Formats: sequence, C-alpha cells, structure tokens
Amino acid sequence: MHLHHNNHHAAYVNNLNGLVEKWPDLAKKPIEEILLNLNSVPETVRTGVRNNLGGHWNHSYFWVLMSPGGAKAPKGDLKGAIDAAFGDVDKMKAVVKQAGLTRFGSGWAWLAVGKDKKLTVFSTPNQDTPHMNLDAKPVLGVDVWEHAYYLKYQSRRGDYIDSWWNTVNWDRAEENFKKAMG
Ligand code: MN
Repeated sequence: MHLHHNNHHAAYVNNLNGLVEKWPDLAKKPIEEILLNLNSVPETVRTGVRNNLGGHWNHSYFWVLMSPGGAKAPKGDLKGAIDAAFGDVDKMKAVVKQAGLTRFGSGWAWLAVGKDKKLTVFSTPNQDTPHMNLDAKPVLGVDVWEHAYYLKYQSRRGDYIDSWWNTVNWDRAEENFKKAMG
C-alpha cells in the first residue's frame, strides 16, 4: 500500500500538475463537477484529465476508507440497507468480489447508493469514478488494478479482495452512506 500511494497515486498528481498548465480551469472547478462534465473539458487534455483526476479522486477516497481503527463491521442503517439489498453482509461482499473479478483489465469495484436511494454494486473501468456511473454515490470501493495487489498476491485478484475487507473502516463507510442518502 505504501508503494501504491507513493508511486502510483503520486504519478496521477504529478500528471495533474502538468495538465493544469495547459488548462488552468482544472485547479478552479470542483473535481466531481469536472468529472461529470468531461465534454466541457478541452479535447487536448480530456483523456489526461479523465484518467489522472479520476485516479486522484479514487485513491484519495480509498486511503481514508482504510484508515486504521473504526468499526470492523457495518452496523445500524448501513447494515440494514445491506441486508435489505443483498441478504446479508457476506452476500454483499460476494457481489463486490464478483464485480471486481469480472472487471476486465484495470478498474474499481464499488458499493454505492443509486439514484433510487438503494444500494447497488458495479465496477468502473480504468480510473473512472463511481459518479460517472449513473451519478451513483459511493459507500466503499476497492482498487482492482494489478498495481494494487501484484506484489503480495501476484495474479490472485480474488484473494486480495477477500483480504482487503479486513482493512475497511466501517465508520467511514457509514459516513459515506449517510452522505449518499442525503
Ligand atoms: Mn491504484
């Protein structure tokens, strides 16, 4: 995770510092607003903005979701919503794992609140953020890029996802859930 933070996330930030020189609006607008309106980003920097701003957003979200301490399992309203949507927490984890395993190439698997205010699971390609998927609001997300797991798990993406659950700070996930529910 240290290498992941200091090499991979740092690269996205370095790239953004280059892109802001070509398109100064990048530093002025809220990140989510830019990502939801990529068509208004100049074509010359659009792909770079999508990949690097998305990567910066996703990783910033990911690190704090894994902050040490906090609840080790969902409780309260979040647990109730998970049970209602999936049956129980283990079944939800299985659906997230499946989304991660079936994401071809690189991307992320998300548990999110959809526009109907119900929990849903999906994956996004590359560094696309969950907002780009029908404006969903994320509760948690797991990085399934090979760079997230190859050092310890080689090609065993499923084993990495199984272990990753042990790092989740469910207090943070619950905050995300409350924010998503408005
Ligand atoms: Mn990553």
